[in-house]
Parts: sequence; structure tokens; C-alpha cells
Amino acid sequence: MPTTAVRKAKEAPRKSAPKPAPSIDNHPIYSELGFPTDPNNLYRQTVGYMLTAAELMDLSDEIKLILAQPKNEIMVHFPVKMDNGQFRIFKGYRVQHNNALGPYKGGLRFHPDVHLDDVKSLAFLMTMKCSLVGVPFGGGKGGIKVNPREHSSAEMQRIVRRFTSAIAHNIGPDYDIPAPDVGSTSQHMAWIADTYTFLSEIGGHNPEAVITGKPVEYGGSLGREKATGQGVVDTLVEMLPELNLKINQCKVSVLGFGNVGSWSAKIIQDLGAKVIAVADHTGFIRNDRGIDAHDLATYVARSGGVANYPKATKVSKEEFYKTKVDIFIPAALEQMIQEPEAKMLNCTVVAEGANAPTTPPGERMLQSKGIEILPAILCNAGGVTVSYFEWVQNKTCHSWDLTKVDAELNKHMVQAAGRVREARKHYKCDMRTAAYVASLQRLTKAYELRGIFP
Ligand code: NAD
Repeated sequence: MPTTAVRKAKEAPRKSAPKPAPSIDNHPIYSELGFPTDPNNLYRQTVGYMLTAAELMDLSDEIKLILAQPKNEIMVHFPVKMDNGQFRIFKGYRVQHNNALGPYKGGLRFHPDVHLDDVKSLAFLMTMKCSLVGVPFGGGKGGIKVNPREHSSAEMQRIVRRFTSAIAHNIGPDYDIPAPDVGSTSQHMAWIADTYTFLSEIGGHNPEAVITGKPVEYGGSLGREKATGQGVVDTLVEMLPELNLKINQCKVSVLGFGNVGSWSAKIIQDLGAKVIAVADHTGFIRNDRGIDAHDLATYVARSGGVANYPKATKVSKEEFYKTKVDIFIPAALEQMIQEPEAKMLNCTVVAEGANAPTTPPGERMLQSKGIEILPAILCNAGGVTVSYFEWVQNKTCHSWDLTKVDAELNKHMVQAAGRVREARKHYKCDMRTAAYVASLQRLTKAYELRGIFP
């Protein structure tokens, strides 16, 4: 295969006769771009899904190459004074994957295990997601290697503000707009908006539009907090009839009961479904008569986890996964549904609330059992969609009511689901590949029209 430098640039996707697709497990792009060789590497796995779709569509090599690598990878180290007077050095990241469709957009993860390959994967997924759901953003992601549970509020405020100042030159309301993710909250977003506003006081309009997921009282949007869960449920409502399921007759289990998991559970329960098993980092619980998701959310806000919820029974990991349900919603971290978990799952559909929760071996196992997967780039796109609405409201100095937010969100989710359905029918492929196809169609068109500079 020729190198990137000598490859002849083409302006449009190749339309020649189909050629045999390279094996995705050993695609030439991996060696050309120096990917890690470990098949369990998250970035390699994530890009692999895109390459599967790209080969099916017979996309040009340059589009595959451009998308297989982020544009910018920013890493910062910064000192912060702890409450005891000592200083600690923290590591932060911002990866800007692609901005062909608009400013970079994506969350900030505050977690002790954050590292570069995860952030690259999540930034990549944002590019694909924004394209699929039709919002004018590219993909980015960032984070701080920190456990927020180990720090006082005052320490977290200093960590977040200092991180913001470290990346301030690399973000901006028209350039790169972060948002919350695992471990980060609307309070953190407020501190980021305030720090950025302070640093950019002399110039710039609407500096608070530098970040979304802010508190409603400070530039946030109604409906943003629940948006990802709402989008998961909107997708299910749209897709379940094809699987001969009625939402109000469904039993549901949820892995992860933070923002995405708890809102998905509350919203689906309000539509008549019954949540019967829940898990988080503290443990696994089950109640076949139903777990009231609203009550559980109140309990978790107080206690920090589901493990000791008194109105359900503690179960083992195996019992949790083997619980017979119609819908399983993974809403925790990446790569949690590996082959053993997939083998245990007893459900009709997996609705991916989390990013990249299913590994390729896990996916193959689910497929072999006839379990349908609603892929993350479709299912959890509600968050970035309402983040886009928040940004629009900041930019135009308007505020939308909740009815408008929910209606606009539903419109985006239904349209995206429709495009995935069409791609699936056309290419006769699984739902994940179809979602990537639908996303790549928009991105490819943009590159075709823009060309590749110079
Ligand atoms: P969160 O921090 O609010 O919640 C994370 C949940 O995962 C918690 O309940 C935690 O206990 C659980 N968890 C962590 N480690 C676990 C483990 N080992 N076993 C079981 N549970 C574990 O985060 P969130 O915002 O709800 O994000 C969850 C997922 O959804 C992530 O993949 C995130 O990237 C994705 N996502 C979030 C948004 C958003 O708007 N917040 C949008 C799109 C995608």
C-alpha cells in the first residue's frame, strides 16, 4: 500500500467496481498509521467498526486515513494546591478528532483511568455521532486523570479551573466546545464557563457557549441533563416495533446508574416498561416485581451507589447478566460487554447508552444469539444533540422551553434512526455497520464538496 504522502488525492469516493475488502482484523491502515497491535486496544476496535462500513461502501482510502487518526492530541500537566497545602500534578487531555462538519464537540471525562487511547476513541465516536444525527459539529473529547470522589469540592474547583486555563487556547465557542461525560457534572461545566469567560474577557461574544451541559441557571438548556437517556428511549421507541416489542410490556436491565443509566431507566419506566435489574460500580441488584427508577435515583444521589438499595435484592454479576429481560441498557464504561458477559445476556435488544460498551468478540457473541444491538453512535446521540441546542440558545441569546427541546431532539433521533434503517436495508448489514454507513455518507459528502486542502 502506498504511503499517505504519495497516495494520489481524490475528491470523491471511489465508484469503481467493488474490490475484495481487506480483513478488518488486519487492515493495512493500522500498520500505515502505527496503530497498537493489541486487538483489545479500544482505539483499534473503534476505528475497526468505521473501516468495516467504509469497505462496504468502497470509500476512498484518503477518507479512511483522515478519519482513522485525530487531527490534534493535546496533553497538559498542571499543578494544583490540595486542601492540606501540598501540591499535586494532574494530567489532562483534549483530543480534536475531526472538524469537517463544524467545531470540535465532545465531553470531558474525570476518571482515574482516563488515558490517551480512550480519549481518542471517544473523540472519534463524537465525529461519527454528530454526523449521523445531523448536528453541525465535529468530534472531540477530553478529560482529567482524577477521581472526583477523592477530592473536596474546593479541590475539584481548583483542578477544573486550572485545567481550563491549561487548554483555554485550544477551545472556544466556534472552535472546540466541551461538555460533561463520566465523572463530570453541570457544576464543573459552570466553573469551566466562568474560567473561560474570565480569561477571554477582552474579546469574544457569548464566551459561555464554550461549553455545554451547564446548569440551566447559568446558560444551560432545559432537557440537557436527561437528554442522553431521552435519546436512548426515543431510539428504542422508534426501533422496537421492528423487533415486535411494545415498550410498555418490556422488562429492562441497566448497567450503570449515573446520568445516562438513571435517566434512561426513569424515562422508559414512565412509558410503562419495568426495570428489574440495575448495576453500578458498587454492585448488582434485582427485583422481579420492578425497581422504581425514580426512587432508586433519589437513593443513589444520597448513598453514592445502588448496592444497598433496600427495595431490591443484591445479586451476583452472573445473576445480573443472566436476568431475562427484553432490553439491556449498558450505560457505564467502555468494553464492559465482552464475550463472557455477552454469553450470559438474556435479552432481545441491547441499547447502547454508553460509548463503545461492546467489544467485537462480545458483539459476535450477541449476534450469534440473535440479539439486536442499537449502536451507541445512534442510541446515545441525544446528549450531543441537546448540547447543540444549548449552544444555539447561547449564541442567539434565546431560551427554549422543554417541549421545544424534546420535540427537536425527537426529530433528530427519528431522522437518524430512519437513515440507519435505510442504510441497513441497502447494504444488508447489521445495525452498527449501518449507523457507520449513514454517518460516513454525510462526512464523505462534506469532503467531496470541500476537497482536501490545499
Ligand atoms: P456517570 O459518571 O454519570 O455514570 C457512570 C455510571 O457507571 C455510574 O453509575 C458508575 O457507578 C457506573 N460504573 C462505573 N464503573 C463501573 C463498573 N466497573 N461496573 C458497573 N458500573 C460502573 O456517567 P454518564 O454521563 O452516565 O456516562 C455513562 C456512559 O455514557 C459513558 O460511556 C459516557 O461516555 C456515555 N455518554 C454520556 C453522555 C452524557 O450526556 N452524560 C452522552 C453520551 C454518552
